[in-house]
Amino acid sequence: MISPREGPFDLAIIGAGASGLMAAATGARAGMSTVVLDLNDRPGAKLSLTGGGRCNILPADFDPGAYVTSSSRNSLAKILRRWSPSLARSFFEEAGVRPEPEEGTGKLFASSTTDGAASVVRTLVRIASDAGAVFMFRSRVIDIEPSGGRWKVRLEGGGTVDARSVMIATGGRSWPGTGSGGWGFTMAARLGHRVRQAYPALVPLRSEDAGFAGLSGIVVHAAISSRFEGRPFTVEGPLLFTHRGFSGPVTMDASHAFTGAEEAPAALLVRWGRPDASEWERTLLSGKGRILGALGEHLPSRLAALLLERAGLRPEARFAELDRPGRLSLLAVLTRFPLPVCGHCGWDEAEVTGGGVALEEVDPGSMESRLHPGLHLAGEVLDAFGPVGGWNLYWAWLTGRMAGRA
Ligand SMILES: Cc1cc2nc3c(=O)[nH]c(=O)nc-3n(C[C@H](O)[C@H](O)[C@H](O)COP(=O)(O)OP(=O)(O)OC[C@H]3O[C@@H](n4cnc5c(N)ncnc54)[C@H](O)[C@@H]3O)c2cc1C
Repeated sequence: MISPREGPFDLAIIGAGASGLMAAATGARAGMSTVVLDLNDRPGAKLSLTGGGRCNILPADFDPGAYVTSSSRNSLAKILRRWSPSLARSFFEEAGVRPEPEEGTGKLFASSTTDGAASVVRTLVRIASDAGAVFMFRSRVIDIEPSGGRWKVRLEGGGTVDARSVMIATGGRSWPGTGSGGWGFTMAARLGHRVRQAYPALVPLRSEDAGFAGLSGIVVHAAISSRFEGRPFTVEGPLLFTHRGFSGPVTMDASHAFTGAEEAPAALLVRWGRPDASEWERTLLSGKGRILGALGEHLPSRLAALLLERAGLRPEARFAELDRPGRLSLLAVLTRFPLPVCGHCGWDEAEVTGGGVALEEVDPGSMESRLHPGLHLAGEVLDAFGPVGGWNLYWAWLTGRMAGRA
């Protein structure tokens, strides 16, 4: 599997992550002589960690509107139309990786065993290797340059690889310990591409609010509404209180409103529990007895007590004594509570990177650069990411496949 060569190759893929491996499997199967270069000593360092090792391989449902990008949404939609999640699922099933819905959540994992992510890596490497792809590990690419209708890929330490096409599949900056240090952004910018400033996304948020820190370990269902680049959005799911602030899927899905804001970030407004705003209003209008008891039917009791306090009410307060201003204040705390956020947990804990190479600058059918013929880009280096739950691997599969096919 590891066999250093200089080429010439049809395709040199930089990065043996999710998008690079899918591109290698696709390109090599299509008959292209393919080389995959990675600075790590093994393929799929990040992919092996996904879904806690089980690999949440594809989204269970699909809404193109859930992807975040600062590029044209039209360009995004054109890319997302190319290979549906159900076709991607068929691809994996035929390859022997059966995505299985998780009981309770319906999330699609590569396997119910902890070996799921590793088996995805093995499967893609096997398909690519069987079709003749060459893997070169411990090969850090430091530069690429067009040369006489071909590309020269320069390696740290002096080697070069020659290829007709080159693909940047080097990921973003999240979890840099897996090899993704942001080189692709630097290289794309050097080649003249517009690269939107990278920011950590799907990342836990920090808080200095001691009241919430005291709830560390508690999980509550919540909806968070905010704005990103003028676009309102609402995400819903489990929120986890931690000793440092807030985590869990819903916090991570909303975190870009804080981390990606170019000016003052918009507030993250929380609606606590499963009731929507009108159900909470009805509860407050028709409740009897202690207010804390009614809130506790929908919320963990310690959170209910804290929210009551934040609304300026005593823990033993009863509905009978709740006047209109008190009710409106409690309703606001329950349905539009500004999450007290003071920072985020950084690249080491961000599941993906926001920002990246502008989507308008790649052809949606081939992921080929519109500036440089023969240069392709795939995966997290591009300016798009989706919510937690298989959406980002789907983006890597999709863009890797389009680039590999081309
Ligand atoms: C802990 C964790 C869990 C996750 N779980 C899920 C999940 O369950 N489902 C989901 O959809 N998404 C998940 N994600 C997100 C998903 O893993 C990424 O979106 C996806 O792996 C990105 O793929 P990629 O190919 O773009 O980049 P990467 O997988 O990061 O691969 C990039 C590769 O490029 C190599 N590289 C970088 N620079 C160079 C260079 N100069 N020379 C040579 N090689 C280089 C790196 O070594 C790396 O191997 C998770 C992310 C994390 C961090």
